Amino acid sequence: MDDYLVRATAFAGKIRLFAATTTQVVEEMRNRHDLFPTAAAAVGRTATAAVMMGAMLKGEEKVTVQVKGNGPLGQIVMDANARGEVRGYADHPQTHLPSNASGKLDVAGAVGREGFIYVTKDLGMKEPYRGSIPIISGELAEDFTYYFAKSEQTPSAVSLGVLVNQDYTIRNAGGFIIQVMPEVDDEVIFTLEHKLASVLPVTTLLEQGLSPEDLLKEVIGDFANAETMPLSFRCFCSRERVERTLLSLGRQELSQMVEQDEFAQIVCHFCNEKYEFDREALKSLMDQTGL
Ligand code: ZN
Repeated sequence: MDDYLVRATAFAGKIRLFAATTTQVVEEMRNRHDLFPTAAAAVGRTATAAVMMGAMLKGEEKVTVQVKGNGPLGQIVMDANARGEVRGYADHPQTHLPSNASGKLDVAGAVGREGFIYVTKDLGMKEPYRGSIPIISGELAEDFTYYFAKSEQTPSAVSLGVLVNQDYTIRNAGGFIIQVMPEVDDEVIFTLEHKLASVLPVTTLLEQGLSPEDLLKEVIGDFANAETMPLSFRCFCSRERVERTLLSLGRQELSQMVEQDEFAQIVCHFCNEKYEFDREALKSLMDQTGL
């Protein structure tokens, strides 16, 4: 089943819902970056949160999520947009730790229990929106819950999960976000909290074959205004963009590269694509542009 996201409302529009399956997206990230299991879980949870945050945007708006913890994984950077496209990486993809006390992948150990989460939204305005919160757990779902409450003043329940196979491939990944709109009454919140308290971990539900709609049904019961959106890994780098970056280095730096190295290799952080320029390619690039 292809990854997709469902956006819906419940309780007469007083609750906003998002649910997503991200197994293929996370598997592509694992494959591109050679993510080890703990790293894959951390990166996958962040990607799942980011695609749902992307689904809260519209048109050409974009969101960048940076998780900067003090753990061995280094920082996680994730870009998502309103079209369900996401790309991202972690500084140290080959991070893997022994399981935590509950026998799960130790995401908080990899991310770190201290640090910050930064959210930058390009809403097409002059200045981007920026929000940040301190990391409170490192397990990420709790941290994004805290982010929505503190930075966006939107009480939310966030659940994120990634299950990794023995051979390091991704078995399943997904999550949901439930957001309470300002005018909601206490009774609805009480009902919600009651339901959420008994919900199984998202990876368990996905393992049972639940779709994003099923996840919402499981968590909230009836919902309305459901819209779906396919999700995909997508990077926006290209050889042309890399050429422009190289040219921006200027003549001196480029000639030095031509003289010193047999070739230049530029690697895109986001997708790990390698762009190679041998001496000839660099020379002709400089000639073409009159540098
Ligand atoms: Zn790329």
